[in-house]
Amino acid sequence: MSFFNLSEELCSFSEKALFKCKEKFQEIDALTEYNQQKVLKAFINQGVSESHFTPSTGYGYGDRGREVLDELTAEIFDAEDAIIRHSFASGTHTLCVMLFGVLRPGDNVLCVTGTPYDTIHSVIGLTGEGMGSLKDFGVTFDIVDLLHDGTVDYDSIKTELAKKEYKAVYIQRSRGYSLRPTLLSADIKKIVNIVKTNSKAITMLDNCYGEFTEYETPGAIGVDLFAGSLIKNPGGGIAKCGGYIAGKKELVELCSYRMTTPGVGREVGATLGNNRDIFMGLFNAPHVTGEALKVAVFTAALFEEMGYEVSPNSSENRADIIQSIKLGNREKLVAFCQGLQSGSVVDSYVVPEPWAMPGYDSDVIMAAGAFTNGSSIELSADAPLREPFAVWLQGGLNFHSGKIGVLLGAQKVLDIKE
Ligand SMILES: *Cc1c(COP(=O)(O)O)cnc(C)c1O
Repeated sequence: MSFFNLSEELCSFSEKALFKCKEKFQEIDALTEYNQQKVLKAFINQGVSESHFTPSTGYGYGDRGREVLDELTAEIFDAEDAIIRHSFASGTHTLCVMLFGVLRPGDNVLCVTGTPYDTIHSVIGLTGEGMGSLKDFGVTFDIVDLLHDGTVDYDSIKTELAKKEYKAVYIQRSRGYSLRPTLLSADIKKIVNIVKTNSKAITMLDNCYGEFTEYETPGAIGVDLFAGSLIKNPGGGIAKCGGYIAGKKELVELCSYRMTTPGVGREVGATLGNNRDIFMGLFNAPHVTGEALKVAVFTAALFEEMGYEVSPNSSENRADIIQSIKLGNREKLVAFCQGLQSGSVVDSYVVPEPWAMPGYDSDVIMAAGAFTNGSSIELSADAPLREPFAVWLQGGLNFHSGKIGVLLGAQKVLDIKE
């Protein structure tokens, strides 16, 4: 602790918080061990070799490393097939390819976890008239809202499925930047079972932030198609960009035709030297996700000790790496984010300020000092400056540095005289 200036009061909160985390940390270690072994075994089963790291150029025909990465990803996520590419520009782009890959004019989709994540609005056509959204192409979306406590309204899903023929049911696992609980695999499984018994619809899942946070994968619980971002959990803090889509073979193939072109699909796509990073990131992902989970649990425990409301709390089961803290006012949000930034490994000297952001109806403050731009498996926090004045925190490449970042944020909050 001697490298950083923390008050005795905070150190005492921190000790108590760490003590409180003991049991959860043991659970996380057991989970990490399981997922790490699973991933290692998959690498061995797929015969990953140094030759697979060789860069391809141009069309990228016959890039064996790219093919092995696909097979490896499918095995890790218990899916029939997968595509994993650096050329997906973001998580949203990956989800967009998943949706456009499978949906056709006239299809109806039922979103069963409320209004999807902000950046998906213009993809499905809730906003962005004329941009070429799914709505522009004649695909309709109906939304089943979450219940008042933020949990899934299973009864209404059943009712809605009986009213119309749906091509797909869309599920979002993570809370994103809302205060609803994240769906556990058990919740997703329940939705999948309802869909399978009441309709012919396929299930699609936005799996962002969920990878390696549980024992079960979406593939293992029968989700037909799912996707995520490589600058979150499955990139292990090493992949520089990209995403993956996994699931049923025929559906992944359709996505491959949207990813490049109908007909050519996954046969092209130069990897330019990115394979090694994606292999190494996937290999590290279970461990790094475990570290991020520990940062989140510690943060929850620390702010509980300090008297704040947190979600999830320090003893809840988790299925993503996101932690929110209700700090209660603007000054504390700014203080926390500035403190956290000061403990970042990159750009520690930057002082974040609240700013108007496109797509938000209030100013937003963001703390991020990462090796990869926008990476949220690295320690980062965002807070819209509006009720309930909560900050959303995620990531941490290792627990020890993540803990310091959080403590520096907490110190700034404690330093505010009330
Ligand atoms: C991060 C995230 C996305 C994708 O966001 P990008 O910033 O485009 O990577 C989509 N849905 C959820 C729930 C997310 O957390």
